[in-house]
Amino acid sequence: MREWRVPHSDQDLQKFRSKLLGWFHRHQRDMPWRRTRDPYCIWLSEIMLQQTRVAAAIPYYERFLETFPSVRALAGAEEEDVLRLWAGLGYYSRARNLQRAAREIVERHGGEFPRDFAAALALPGIGNYTAAAILSIAHGAPHAVLDGNVARVIARLEAIRGDLREGSRWRALQTSAGRLLDISHAGDWNQAMMELGATVCTPRAPNCAVCPVAESCRARKLGLTETLPEKRRKRAPEKVHLAVAVFLDPAGKTILFPPAKAASRKKEERNSELSALFSRLWHFPAAAVRKDARTELRRHLQTVGGMQMISAAKLLPLPPLRHAVTYREITITAFVVRVKELPGARTGRVLPMNKLHSLAVSGLTRKIARAALAR
Ligand code: SF4
Repeated sequence: MREWRVPHSDQDLQKFRSKLLGWFHRHQRDMPWRRTRDPYCIWLSEIMLQQTRVAAAIPYYERFLETFPSVRALAGAEEEDVLRLWAGLGYYSRARNLQRAAREIVERHGGEFPRDFAAALALPGIGNYTAAAILSIAHGAPHAVLDGNVARVIARLEAIRGDLREGSRWRALQTSAGRLLDISHAGDWNQAMMELGATVCTPRAPNCAVCPVAESCRARKLGLTETLPEKRRKRAPEKVHLAVAVFLDPAGKTILFPPAKAASRKKEERNSELSALFSRLWHFPAAAVRKDARTELRRHLQTVGGMQMISAAKLLPLPPLRHAVTYREITITAFVVRVKELPGARTGRVLPMNKLHSLAVSGLTRKIARAALAR
């Protein structure tokens, strides 16, 4: 239990809330999802904003809503169409869960995002933070959000040391967030806390001179604004080496393979890991490399149906590429394989190299394609 609470008294708390809300109403950034109270739009924005900057998310958000303007439209869509619209945002499990949740909402909640916190929490891809954000912003429900921005603000206000994500510390932060919450303006309050963290109380060099709640900040009084929150220990990166074949026929067409299916993932664990590196989306034929990229790729291609002819084809190497996916650092040795006729593999899809975006492909696949086209 911390002996320090900010602000101390109920009166101070009222002043604190009114300063922060007043600041938010004057300075909040204009964002398309702030012009609506539709829970579907707010939900979509919250999912897109996980791991993605606001400016990058806006065009995706607008395109997504043009194509799938309602929960029902999303529930009835082909998964591949959803993933194609998501391509470039990364973390594709977010898109898959979004659609799974939309289907559950149609089947169990009559197409309306549930108003009950526990029911919202039971949907795929919805955790405490997302449920609290959607229900407070759409319906004014009294749930305090706690994400990285809010945690940082509270950690500085209360001068909390240690790893904020550690279980008991995170729970204490959640209690503080609940205590600070202005329940008569829950949606605005939550957005104000997040906005303060995103624009003023930033990870590096917080701008305390313009902070509306600077008077209440213990880290500022103690000269700790630059050192709090303390750094987390990072997971050591896992290094992966991939060899990739970019087939190219005289018409400029190539071949991509589909993501591994759940059933085949069990059978072929190694292929499954590989598929995860491509975010379980369409990808060029690829093999994990242990020793020699060229030899292992040739061997892999010979095992893929219809690619026996590869033994005669030349593998022209591209400059090495690097890519990071969560904690994995991937080195890619890609080869252009010029062929008169593309291998007729059963599951592959043949398409022009400059039209890869017509399938759901990951950032890694697009990076490899750009390198091959540049060559
Ligand atoms: S005074 Fe500085 S450190 Fe404290 S809450 Fe405001 S911006 Fe953050």
